[in-house]
Formats: sequence, structure tokens, C-alpha cells
Amino acid sequence: YRRIVLASRPQQHASVDNFRLETLDIPELTEGQVLIKNHFLSLDPYMRVRMNAERGYADPQALNETMIGGTVGTIVATKNARFTVGEKVIGMMGWAEMGVSDGVLLRKLDTSHIPLSAYLGAVGMPGMTAWYGLTQIMQVKAGETVLVSAASGAVGSVVGQLAKLQGCRVIGIAGGSEKCEYVVNQLGFDACVDYKSQDWQQQLIAASPQGIDAIFENVGGEVFDACLLRMNPFGRIALCGMIAGYESEELPIKNARVLLTQRLTVRGFIISEHMDLWPQGLKELGSLVASGKIKFKESIAPDLAAAPEAFLGLLKGKNFGKQLVRLLPE
Ligand code: NDP
Repeated sequence: YRRIVLASRPQQHASVDNFRLETLDIPELTEGQVLIKNHFLSLDPYMRVRMNAERGYADPQALNETMIGGTVGTIVATKNARFTVGEKVIGMMGWAEMGVSDGVLLRKLDTSHIPLSAYLGAVGMPGMTAWYGLTQIMQVKAGETVLVSAASGAVGSVVGQLAKLQGCRVIGIAGGSEKCEYVVNQLGFDACVDYKSQDWQQQLIAASPQGIDAIFENVGGEVFDACLLRMNPFGRIALCGMIAGYESEELPIKNARVLLTQRLTVRGFIISEHMDLWPQGLKELGSLVASGKIKFKESIAPDLAAAPEAFLGLLKGKNFGKQLVRLLPE
């Protein structure tokens, strides 16, 4: 089977040369292990940070080892009494077509009402991230105005739909008219600011006649800075991501004074530190996806060899919705 390892660390911008495709033999299982055939790999912005040598909130990705990543697949051989052949599981098997696990971190999946790939998106880590920021930090009430950046993406799309279900006015920010139209027409947001257009500042003002009560921030930078000026007193900001700075770009905030004058609360969070809330959040997200109340879109790279390019695209906004890689067929 094939896997992709981190071959070298990026200088500033990651490139396809930082990755290497390898072919390995399928190992013999020892007692307690299972063999998984992976169907989908999730590509996520955090992977870029792990490629650097410096320790962030997690250890760096080791060189010449399988790139870290969430996967969904099927058990194809087992020497572990907890698993039977044919069961669908989610795990962190990395950028690889197959993998061996002791089962400890695997979770069994029910695909009768939810498609397998959704467990890597709206009913997985990204959905959970949206749910946590909205319910635990922003604590929005009906009638409030909520803003979310990277609005068409895996996390942002769920944030906005959850906020709409709570009766909020929801404004998205996204790059380009196609993404903005999707956010408004398909996801049901009230407005979407296209930050790539000339008049994005006017669009932002027009979209928030009552100001903004809560922000779910995924990007950082100049646009985020401008949004601060629209904040109402006692507004809340869930700082989820700063993707505009993942390749060491500076993200200055000029309007910091607003934090004081509007008495704002800003809180960063890392979703893997809140595992206690995952069962509750995933249960709610699962029923909303199964009933069609939360919609999602996916960009799927055709096979493992296409993963590096798809990953680099994610960092430039080339994805439209949750970025996945198709691995071996079910
Ligand atoms: P998305 O599916 O939203 O894809 C990333 C999107 O970010 C792109 O489509 C693009 O949208 C936008 N983007 C990319 N590069 C830039 C850039 N340089 N400047 C502006 N926008 C850019 O990814 P996710 O939903 O998986 O992740 C969204 C954010 O949430 C990320 O910042 C991620 O790190 C963060 N995150 C944080 C977690 C936590 O625990 N705190 C957990 C999971 C995710 P567009 O074309 O509209 O610009």
C-alpha cells in the first residue's frame, strides 16, 4: 500500500517537494491489532503548522514518517476481539491507504443515515470545532448578528448554519462570488462579504446594519481587523484559526482599541482539548446532518498521490468545502 511521508520541512511556503510517496508491504498483525483499509483522508489547515520544526500546541510532524491525518475506513483483518471485519471506523491513520492500529483510538461509525465522509467534516472534528466555538464561547442568542470567516469551508459552513438554527442574523466572509453565492443561497446565510472584491469594506458595513455581536474567526489579518470596528458592546470573539498567518505572515491588529471601548471578550481554543464535549456535540451534529438541516460540500482529490497538491490548495482557498482525499474503494 502507499503512504506519504514528510520528506523535508518548508522554508516559508510549503511545496510538493516537502512530501514523498512510498510503497510499503502490508504488515502481519500481532495480537490486539486490526488492519484498516482507508477510504477517505481529511486534509486540514493544522497540518501546515505541524510541518514546522517549532513546537506549537502539539509536537511537530516527524520527518520520514507518515503525515498525520484523520481517516475513515473499513476493518479488513482483525486480531482484536472488539472489532469484526467489515466494520467502518474513524481514526488517525494518516496519509496512507492502509494502516495497523491497536484499536484504542478507533471509533466505530454508523453509516445508515450519515455518509462515511461526513465523519471527517460536519459530523467530525471540523463540525465539533464549529459547535464548540458557537455554544461555549460565542453563546449567541436569537436576534443577534454573527459573523464567520472562511464561511464556505468545513468549519465556517457549520458555524453559520448552527447560528441560523438559533435565530441569529448570519454574515459570512468568503473569497470570490461563487463561494459567496453558495453561502447565501445554499447554506442560508443572510449575507456574505467577498473579501477579494474591491469594495469588501462597504459590503461589510452594508451587511451589518445592527453591528456584530459575535465573531467566529478562522482567518485573521486585515479583514478581521476591519470587522473589529463593527463590534457591538460586550461582543464575543471565538478565535478558532488564523490561516492567513500559517506560513509565518504577520497579522497585525490596528484596531485593538475596540477591545477596550466595546468591552469585548476574545477566547482562543483548541478543539482536541475539549474531548469531554465531543459525544454531545457529535450527537447533535449527527442528527442535524441526517435530517438535512445542516448541509455540506466537499472537494475530493482523486487519490493519495494528489494529496500534497490538494493540501497546498487548501492553504490558498482552492478548496470549496471540506477538503478530502479519496483513497481505496469501499
Ligand atoms: P476550510 O475548509 O475553511 O478551508 C480553508 C479556507 O480558508 C479556504 O478555503 C479559504 O477560504 C480560507 N483561506 C485559506 N488561506 C487563506 C488566506 N491566506 N487568507 C484568507 N483566507 C484563506 O478549512 P477548515 O474549515 O478546516 O478550517 C478553518 C479554520 O479553522 C482554519 O483556520 C483552521 O486552522 C481552524 N481550525 C481550528 C481548530 C481549533 O481547534 N482551534 C480546529 C479545526 C480548524 P476562502 O477562499 O473563502 O478565502
